[in-house]
Amino acid sequence: MRSSGENTRFVIVTGGVLSGIGKGVTTASLAKLFQFRGYSIRIIKIDPYLNIDPGTLNPIEHGEVFVTDQTWTFQPVNDFSFRISEIDLDFGTYERFTGIDVHPSQNITSGQIYTSVILGERKGSFLGRTVQIIPHVTDQIKSRIWDVVNKQPIPDVLLVEIGGTVGDIEAMPFLEAVRQLAREVGRDRIAFVHVTLVPYIHSVGEFKTKPTQHSVRTLQGLGLQPDIIVCRAEAELSRSARDKIALFCNVPEERVISNPDISIIYKLPLNFEKQGLGDVLIKHLHLEPHSPETESWAKIVESFQGHNKTLVIAMPGKYTSLSDSYKSINDALAHASAETKTKVQIKWIETEQNCDTECLIDYMTDVDGVLLTPGFGERGVEGMINAASISIEQRIPFLGICYGGQLGTVAFARSVMHWEGAHSTEVDPHTLYPVVDLLDEQRAIEDKGGTMRLGGQEVKIVEGTRLHSIYGSSLVRERFRHRYHLIARYIDRMKEKGLIISAYDESGHIINAVELEKHPFWIGVQYHPEFNSRPGQAHPLYVAFLRAAMEYKRMREN
Ligand code: GLN
Repeated sequence: MRSSGENTRFVIVTGGVLSGIGKGVTTASLAKLFQFRGYSIRIIKIDPYLNIDPGTLNPIEHGEVFVTDQTWTFQPVNDFSFRISEIDLDFGTYERFTGIDVHPSQNITSGQIYTSVILGERKGSFLGRTVQIIPHVTDQIKSRIWDVVNKQPIPDVLLVEIGGTVGDIEAMPFLEAVRQLAREVGRDRIAFVHVTLVPYIHSVGEFKTKPTQHSVRTLQGLGLQPDIIVCRAEAELSRSARDKIALFCNVPEERVISNPDISIIYKLPLNFEKQGLGDVLIKHLHLEPHSPETESWAKIVESFQGHNKTLVIAMPGKYTSLSDSYKSINDALAHASAETKTKVQIKWIETEQNCDTECLIDYMTDVDGVLLTPGFGERGVEGMINAASISIEQRIPFLGICYGGQLGTVAFARSVMHWEGAHSTEVDPHTLYPVVDLLDEQRAIEDKGGTMRLGGQEVKIVEGTRLHSIYGSSLVRERFRHRYHLIARYIDRMKEKGLIISAYDESGHIINAVELEKHPFWIGVQYHPEFNSRPGQAHPLYVAFLRAAMEYKRMREN
């Protein structure tokens, strides 16, 4: 199974007690500790659900779907394949922390594993044998892990985050697979990091370690002894809690790491470094000790601190009940706020209930910019269109992302062109003015999974536009995830009233961005610039949007 990668070290991250306690940020921060020392890394995330990829999941349940630059053809057997570019949102965190683009094959799901095994059985890959979880499913898991290791250039360290919580039925085969992996590579080449929640009970003024003890015992029952325990808590772990966890969970005290709530998540690698975790990992994995270079990262962290000029950015949309639904957008705004030395306060406007113009105007009186969010379907759409119309009339800086850009254009068609009932055919298939319609290549497609126009594409920017001056370039690459697009014959007619095309795709057929000529800042894009934004390298479009919001605020207040 192994061909190369003989020297690669492994870090396996499991979760205990609760999900959603920041295992992704912890994994990304562990990766950073190796990068500080000049070691190359790659990260796998295992999602034990049965979906092939998260593309069809509701963002309210699982958070946003992250889109990679590259697309991958997952081919469980010769004549069967799926295109994957939509992966778990933790990969956004990995890219932002490590600065390295991920490949979709780094997100392994139970759906992919079982499909390979079951279709393989029909092809005769296991002739004569009973196909079982152990060894066939676990072999498939290990072979997928080795595929990621052996992709050139082979990383010094591979980190594997196992989604969910130890004890979940569906994660069992993965825990068994990493137990086998540890046997095969040797315990000195693999480190098990367990991330747990240590609740603080205010009435007794005490940290409670029992849930951690139980989850570690569950792990031990599966043949896995954690080497390091990362304790999520609302505050710095007390000495006595640390000692107790060390004793009961069978790890030395210096390997019980405190991970309290922090306001700037990018600080976590530095907190780990301060507790000596980098050196502990290096020693455990028998890597040569290098002194860590943390200065440039510390500078980035610093850029997020101490700004008090607040900008209020409205985000009208339907997935406002879970902020992770727009994780990359929130983060891109944070990166841009660090760059512009402002503090961004997001004002979620739930547009299913709050949709009429009067109520929206009321909501938007203290707003410095409107970011119209990506999305699908009918719910909340009228409110989003109304919010975009208000941004046009009141000259509020506007950035429309994907669906937001499409609906912003619908707003222009209705309120400026006076095309009554103009719409996207995604919502109104019978509109008289279908300014947004299906991409031609989508007409014959019925399956919903992995079938959108996906991944990184070249974007040609029209010279002389505001967008061109923002990028300072005529050709950029951005990430896409859509089925519908702006229809040129309508957009061309909008020109006389000031809406112009600012970018096309490579072929010149798909409109990739529009903007208003006589507006201080009004841009709608078909792509998702947020996926390319990084701390210390904020996306220029988000930076320009916040600068326009600053200017608008200054005028509003004078
Ligand atoms: N629903 C729109 C489309 O499919 C926009 C998608 C999005 O916002 N990602 O084209």
